Amino acid sequence: MYGMIATWRMAFEGVTKGTEILKHGGHAGDAIEIAIKEVENFEFYKSVGYGGLPNEDMEVELDAAYMDGTTFDIGAVAAIKDFANPISIARRLSKEEVNNLLVGEGAEKFAHKEGFERKNMLTERAKIHYHNRVKEVKELQLKPYSGHDTVGMVSLDVNENMIAGTSTSGLFMKKKGRVGDSPICGSGFYVDSKVGGASATGLGEDLIKGCISYEIVRLMKEGHHPQEACEIAVNNLDEELKIRRGKAGDLSLIAMNNKGEWGVSTNIEGFSFVVANQFQEPTVYLTKNINGKCIHEEASQEWLYNYMKTRTAPLVRK
Ligand code: ASP
Repeated sequence: MYGMIATWRMAFEGVTKGTEILKHGGHAGDAIEIAIKEVENFEFYKSVGYGGLPNEDMEVELDAAYMDGTTFDIGAVAAIKDFANPISIARRLSKEEVNNLLVGEGAEKFAHKEGFERKNMLTERAKIHYHNRVKEVKELQLKPYSGHDTVGMVSLDVNENMIAGTSTSGLFMKKKGRVGDSPICGSGFYVDSKVGGASATGLGEDLIKGCISYEIVRLMKEGHHPQEACEIAVNNLDEELKIRRGKAGDLSLIAMNNKGEWGVSTNIEGFSFVVANQFQEPTVYLTKNINGKCIHEEASQEWLYNYMKTRTAPLVRK
C-alpha cells in the first residue's frame, strides 16, 4: 500500500507529483520532499516558501521539518531566511548525528555550506500584503496574525516506510525569531512507520500545548483508526484550552496509518486537505466538525476554481 495526506488545497499539485513516485515504488521521503518543494516554489501560496508572508520586520522567516518514521531521523530548520527550499535543508539535517534542529543564522550557514539554492523569498505580492496589513491593523484595530497556513504531510511507501514533513512561513506579522509548531517534533509532526504519522496546521502556540501530532500517533498505536485518533486529540485539546484559557486557537490535523487509512479533524470552518492512496487519486476535501465528528466532503469544481482565482487575483496596495 502507498498513500499520502496533506493539509490544505495548496498541497494538491505536490501530492499529485509525490504520488507518482510512490506508485512506481519510490521512497516516501522522495515523495514528500518533491511534494513540499512544489508548494514552496509556487509564489501564489502566501504561507509557505517563496511568496510566504513576512514577519513584522518584513522579512520572510521560514520553518520546516522532516521526520523518517523508520529510523526516527529528524531534521528541522526554524526562522531561516533567503533559501528556496527549507524542506530539503531539513531532510539533509535529518541525516546528521547531532545538530538536527538549526535556527536562523546557524541554519543559513549550514544551508550555504551544503550548497542549497539561495533566493530572496520576499515577493512583490507579499510586500503588498504586508503594507495593507499594517494599514488595516492601524485603522481597524485588527489582529495582525490572521492569514497563515502550513503545509504538513505524511507519506507511506510500498516498503512500509513512513515520512512526515512540514513547511511554513509561520504567522504573518510574527516577531522576528518566533518559532511555531511546524519544526517542533511531536507538535507540528510525528511519524512512526510501525504505526502511522500526523501533522498539524493552525495556531502554533496552541498546537504545541497538546504535543498534538504525537498524541494522534499514540492514539493510533493504542488501536484507534486515524479518524478517531484525530477527533479525540483535537476535541480534547480544544476543550482543555477553552477550560483553562477561555479560548482555543485554530487546530487542524491530518493523519495516516501504516495501512494507508487516514483521518482528519479540525476546530475551524472550511479546513481543506488532500489525500491519495493506492485506491484513490489525489482528491481535495473540505471538512466540518459537527459536535465533535468531522464530516469530509469532496471539494466541488466551483470551489476549486474559485480557490485558484482568489489566490492569483491581482492585488492592489491600499
Ligand atoms: N502552525 C503554523 C505556525 O504557528 C501556522 C499555520 O499552520 O497556520 O507557525
